[in-house]
Amino acid sequence: GKRIGVLTSGGDAPGMNAAIRAVVRKAIHDGDEVFGIRYGYRGLAEGDIFQMEERDVSDLTARGGTMLYTARYPEFKDAEGRQPAIDQLKKHGIDSLVVIGGDGSYRGAAALAAEGIQTVGIPGTIDNDIPGTEYTIGFDTACNTALEAIDKIRDTATSHLRTFIIEVMGRNAGDIAVWTGIGSGAEQIIIPEADFNMDEIVANIENGRKRGKKHSIIVLAEGVMEGHEFADKLYEYDDYHARVTVLGHVQRGGAPTARDRVLAALFGYKAVELIHEGAAGVCVGMMGEKIVATDINEALESKGHSHDNQVKLYNINTEISF
Ligand code: ADP
Repeated sequence: GKRIGVLTSGGDAPGMNAAIRAVVRKAIHDGDEVFGIRYGYRGLAEGDIFQMEERDVSDLTARGGTMLYTARYPEFKDAEGRQPAIDQLKKHGIDSLVVIGGDGSYRGAAALAAEGIQTVGIPGTIDNDIPGTEYTIGFDTACNTALEAIDKIRDTATSHLRTFIIEVMGRNAGDIAVWTGIGSGAEQIIIPEADFNMDEIVANIENGRKRGKKHSIIVLAEGVMEGHEFADKLYEYDDYHARVTVLGHVQRGGAPTARDRVLAALFGYKAVELIHEGAAGVCVGMMGEKIVATDINEALESKGHSHDNQVKLYNINTEISF
């Protein structure tokens, strides 16, 4: 059997635990030994490594966060920073490594693959901004959490005839914003992938009011600007007093949805299969509802996360949200 290491790196996301569980169980099922590495690449360099048994991942699928913890470790970008990690892997006889994280974590995995370590990446982030997959672990849960909050804000917006700006996460991607915008029936969605025009936004709010709309919900992706900044612009523009809600880190926590749990299980399972097939420097993903593997460097060098889909959803929302 193989000796497989597993770690989570970068920002945490709901469903990472379900992925860890799948990796551990599939590996043990196939006669491998599995080693958990705490605190991402930092813990790897420091030797925070322990053997995992099947019962170590009991009752894990429903839990948010990551039982292996996560950390940032900028030193990993340099060969000198990576060397202690490579030494630790050798010391523990670990020949393959599953890295659950974002594109920064993928770069670290690619660097290790170049050193002869069999690495497989699993996309884990709420932002849905990783190449090689249409969906990342945690995205669905984050959208559902944000939707629940927006629904509640809508109630009070209706009661007071107000305009609300709701800032959602997503780093430079508008995925969470378009999904929660459409999902909540927002009047306006503002994402980095599409230009916005203040004239149109203000005209939309006015038109809505004339047609009997009781409120306006504007879902703003954090990658465009901060909610307060946008509210200031709206005020400067036309004396609009919009209320601002920044959803923030609630979007990163909580029990994963069914979709994220299943996605995590399928990704973890596939990662171990790929290791058995001898793959190295690859990442798993879902494309057209199929689980696929892509070379990590190819994925990172490609256009990256496609913008077409967000823009398509954005345009659809514009047609149905008047
Ligand atoms: P994410 O994986 O969510 O994108 P980061 O960008 O913070 O989060 O990356 C996580 C970790 O991956 C970093 O702290 C660092 O240890 C490692 N990493 C990031 N970029 C590189 C790189 N270019 N080369 C090697 N390792 C990297």
